[in-house]
Amino acid sequence: MVPFLDLGSVNSQFRNELIEAITRVVDSGWYIQGECVKKFEAAFADFCGVKHCVGVANGLDALTLTLRAWKELGKIQEGDEVIVPANTYIASILAITENKLTPVLVEPDEATYNLCPEKVRAAITSKTKAIIPVHLYGQLSAMPALMSLAEQYNLLVLEDSAQAHGASLDGRKAGNWGNASGFSFYPGKNLGALGDAGAITTNDDDLAGVLRALGNYGSHEKYKNLYQGVNSRLDEVQAAVLGVKLKYLDIHTAHRRKIAQVYLKGINNAALTLPMSRSEDALSCERHVWHLFVIRCQERIALQEHLAKSGVQTLIHYPIPPHKQQAYPQFNHLNFTVTERIHQEVLSLPMSPVMTLESAEVVVDACNSFVTSGR
Ligand SMILES: *Cc1c(COP(=O)(O)O)cnc(C)c1O
Repeated sequence: MVPFLDLGSVNSQFRNELIEAITRVVDSGWYIQGECVKKFEAAFADFCGVKHCVGVANGLDALTLTLRAWKELGKIQEGDEVIVPANTYIASILAITENKLTPVLVEPDEATYNLCPEKVRAAITSKTKAIIPVHLYGQLSAMPALMSLAEQYNLLVLEDSAQAHGASLDGRKAGNWGNASGFSFYPGKNLGALGDAGAITTNDDDLAGVLRALGNYGSHEKYKNLYQGVNSRLDEVQAAVLGVKLKYLDIHTAHRRKIAQVYLKGINNAALTLPMSRSEDALSCERHVWHLFVIRCQERIALQEHLAKSGVQTLIHYPIPPHKQQAYPQFNHLNFTVTERIHQEVLSLPMSPVMTLESAEVVVDACNSFVTSGR
């Protein structure tokens, strides 16, 4: 069987190093806001090429707290509009509504699944204050165009980089483009902890200061509380784990790219659409970190069954778009045809830093032997 993602194998590569790192935390007697967090924050800021990295409890908090910090700094207020891709994972939208801001859902570019600058421009109103480009599946959004729009209309940009650790465009990495960027270190992400963890990267000193306070009960100085904050901190054990795994992230990314190349070169079934295949950028995979390798098929269910019979495990990212979720009845009446088509057709093939090229060939053969019903 070719598993979708064998996380146990991913982490057992570093078993000894992880156990040593965790043991040092156990023996240190210091478990929150200590040396491991400081070291990891510095290393990850350096990796992204930014000044600050602020560790938080998870990726959703990274996004939510950044918008909250902008409210505290007076840059954005309740009721302001935030542009976000309609096909994102729901967390990007939860961060907006949690802050009583208004999400403005915009259809993605169907070739890249990321925000299309022209559609963003068309959605800008006098209430628009921010854009959240989501680097979906591991590929950077059209950041040069989005940043110039933001400049033109004086908008804040919060990258959702939860799926794009190390992805780059024009030599600049995810986390290095916007006013701030939220990362998730959920175990299945490209850089994954052994539990929940997240971080914000930014070059803005004031923002970093407010974020540090907000995640620590709103306290900027011991026993003094400037804000009604929350408890959202990266802990020492997860920071120690992430410190170990960050050293291997580029190697993991290189392996993901190799698997992606096997898929891109090998899959030639006309019933399947490969990532980027409708774009001029088909060969620009250097920038993509392949968090997910997502293909499209009009007969997705049949394809998934065929692959399962061939021993290939697949998942769907994502089956139901946010605007059709029960959590958002106010959006249920909206129609986003591109987004809805994507959600009906996408299927994610196995992708991991430990899968073998032979298993990738098994996946290729299984994809190529799929026959549509012809309906
Ligand atoms: C995973 C993810 C998040 C949320 O991260 P958590 O650490 O699970 O809270 C946000 N946005 C996107 C696009 C994600 O994939």
